[in-house]
Amino acid sequence: MSTLVHAALSIRRTTRASLGLVTALGFGLLDVLGVFRVRPAELGLEHALVGAVWALLFGVRVAQRLRTRGVVEASSGRLLDLELGALLLVAVHAGVQLGGGLTGPFYPLVYVVVALLASFARKPIGTVLVVVAVAFEAVLYFVGEGQTDPRPLALHALFVISFGLLNLVFTRVEIARVRERSNRELAEEKVRVHEDAKLFRLVGAATDSAARDDERLFRSSLDEVHQALYYTLELLKRTLELHTCVLFFVDETADGNAETMRIVELVSDSDDLAEGPFGAGEGAVGGVAKRGLVMNLEHLKLGYKGLCYYRGPAQVRCFLGVPVVENGVLRGALCADRRDDRPFDAREEEILKGAVHQVLRAVQNERVFVQLEKSKHEQTVLHRASQALGAALSGDAVLDAGLAAAAEIAPFDFAAVTLYDGAQKKHTVRRAVGEGALALEKLTFRDNTSLTAMAVKNRHFLPYRGDFDPAQHVVYTKKANLSGMESLLIMPLVVREDAIGTLCLAAHRRDAFGGAVRPTLQVLANQLAVSLANAESVRRLEELATTDGLTGCLNKRTFLEEFERRIKAAERFGRKLSLVVTDIDHFKAVNDTYGHATGDVVIKELGALLRRVKRETDLVARFGGEEFCILCEETDLDGALLLAERVREELSETVFQTELGKLKVTVSLGVATFPQHAKTAGTLFEITDKALYAAKHNGRNRVCTVKDL
Ligand code: GH3
Ligand code: MG
Ligand code: MG
Repeated sequence: MSTLVHAALSIRRTTRASLGLVTALGFGLLDVLGVFRVRPAELGLEHALVGAVWALLFGVRVAQRLRTRGVVEASSGRLLDLELGALLLVAVHAGVQLGGGLTGPFYPLVYVVVALLASFARKPIGTVLVVVAVAFEAVLYFVGEGQTDPRPLALHALFVISFGLLNLVFTRVEIARVRERSNRELAEEKVRVHEDAKLFRLVGAATDSAARDDERLFRSSLDEVHQALYYTLELLKRTLELHTCVLFFVDETADGNAETMRIVELVSDSDDLAEGPFGAGEGAVGGVAKRGLVMNLEHLKLGYKGLCYYRGPAQVRCFLGVPVVENGVLRGALCADRRDDRPFDAREEEILKGAVHQVLRAVQNERVFVQLEKSKHEQTVLHRASQALGAALSGDAVLDAGLAAAAEIAPFDFAAVTLYDGAQKKHTVRRAVGEGALALEKLTFRDNTSLTAMAVKNRHFLPYRGDFDPAQHVVYTKKANLSGMESLLIMPLVVREDAIGTLCLAAHRRDAFGGAVRPTLQVLANQLAVSLANAESVRRLEELATTDGLTGCLNKRTFLEEFERRIKAAERFGRKLSLVVTDIDHFKAVNDTYGHATGDVVIKELGALLRRVKRETDLVARFGGEEFCILCEETDLDGALLLAERVREELSETVFQTELGKLKVTVSLGVATFPQHAKTAGTLFEITDKALYAAKHNGRNRVCTVKDL
């Protein structure tokens, strides 16, 4: 039943979806049959009916197209375009037929419609519709109109295709052009914000940071500065009855020789103003801004050309400019002019000079505000980082926390931490993240002339300028270098007096780790260094507390704790567990004959052998003197016996070279299994020890179990 319903539904859906096409086909058939090949006067009710149906369907489809523009999934959107196109084509051909057929005067309408369809239909329906137009016309021509000469048709087809394709290409090119232009405008706006921020020195060198937070901060600060300046200038204009009041700053971004002046804020009644920037020293304004003079010009001739901020000759009669000096440095000019010939007097000059202080205060306030906000942000990040670093106990956790904090301070595309082994004179990449990190993982290299080695040696960040030139700089080795990066910062990780390694950051964008973020990053690097050293101390302490110094195996205390724990786990999960104990045969004699040092070598070798043959989850401990224990998880008696036998054999085959010649030693082993032979850790241990004793008793160099007691 449900299959039937499904079938019915899908038939309905398909019919509805293709209704437009089917109907268009119907209209096309009417065109071919010559229903519209009549004189306008002969049009009747049936034509009106067909026209109404067409208009209804077309209207519905257009509404659908508008409603779902951009939302429709591509396939149904294309179907809609195909339907609309087909409907338009049959309609225009109906009109052409009415106007006298394909050779009649209305034929060029077809070109218009095809051009329209090719431009606005979704890809690749535009092309499909051009083909449909040509095919449909061929049918109309040969079948409908009964023509036989193919030449006029070929000419039409050529034009239709040319119109279609030309429009297709032009529209796509135009779209690409518009998109490119809006991208460019966006980029220019960004540059403008940064330039303004620099002009007001809101950011120091902070423009190098691409962090979005910074950008938002600069933007709102700029708005504040501009607003304060605007009100000051507006006030001056009203009180002094000015025509124009304008503030210039000398732009320092240009190199020393080609300095420019920029209009920072301006209020004026004139609409003939130039935008600038202007050459520094230009005209009267230049005299004020570059040479620090107060310029009070009176009785100017109309059309005076010395005021650069007017596009054409100035229509003012007097001018007053006072220099803007901040901390003894000339920064720009505040200028005012008037249309009526009423020279600026001393009082007005004082007012303008007073306004300069106002202007500077507005800029300075914002500068302080930005710095405060920035340092607040930095402190928050550093505080969080130091908490995370402090909480991290393992080296890996410290690296995770450190790199996460670095990313917050200065977003990077690549970062790595290297560690330096002073004894081996080797650097190792301990962690690398980001682009190309995989290739550098665990890279080890000798002390070379790389920036990393230099940063460790000199305990100073590198490269000095922060710019990265792969042709000139080697970060690690010549082979394993970073590529495609524009900015680089390698900071030494200094603990007390020594550099234990480096933190390296790299980014595609230029100037990513400049003066604004470097001090913060350096603080982070110091914290990272101390935390790494702490993590290493913790690791070493742990190792000392849990292992035996001579062999590196677990010590007795740690082994016993773990033994208890594992017996309990085996009991809970109903698993087997075996214990093997070993004791070297006649070891006193070895010591006596070959010396204690040789004895130590033998003990060490046995420890290494045991660790070699055990499985990953097994535990090996030096239990005292020349005795070892091996705890084998999920191992029955047979498995443990195999292991014990292997140990016995391998040791008996090992030859030790000593000053007194070759030495061979043997070992006796006892084996027992939980829960088969004992139900607790203590009793399992006793039984195994007894088995070992049996091995000694039965002639040594053998493995014994409970059976042999
Ligand atoms: P047996 O076959 O019965 O085990 O005879 P043995 O001589 O090995 O006797 P026992 O196991 O009782 O002797 C242990 C000796 O191991 C005592 C001590 O001189 C020596 N020894 C213990 N610890 C060390 C060590 O750290 N280094 C060295 N070189 N010898 C040790
Ligand atoms: Mg012993
Ligand atoms: Mg012994």
